[in-house]
Amino acid sequence: MALENDLRANLIKQFPAEVVKAKDTSGTEYFACPTCKRPVVVGKEKCGSCDQALNWDNIREEEKKLSGVKKATLTFEVSGDFGKSDCRKCPLSYIAKTGGENMYECPLNMRNNCPLEFS
Ligand SMILES: [Zn+2]
Repeated sequence: MALENDLRANLIKQFPAEVVKAKDTSGTEYFACPTCKRPVVVGKEKCGSCDQALNWDNIREEEKKLSGVKKATLTFEVSGDFGKSDCRKCPLSYIAKTGGENMYECPLNMRNNCPLEFS
């Protein structure tokens, strides 16, 4: 019976299981085998300790999200006569002193390439 259980366990290990994220006592993150919980080398197909087949798909997705870019949209109201590059009236602009002169500056550095869209 015990042997049968071992065989079954070995068979199950051939199906990739999702790698889990874990933290060691010092708070450093590492990837661990979902079966034996021991650390595994990033990208390895099998756990070196228990032979569990490993699946990295979710981890890869997560990394993609962190290193990629995403769009941020901010909606606010402007007066009806407001136009693109009208920094003086733009609620986002701030006043900066340039060569002793006060200038309306764009916090996005897009003064001459105003990305605002109106609806
Ligand atoms: Zn393992």
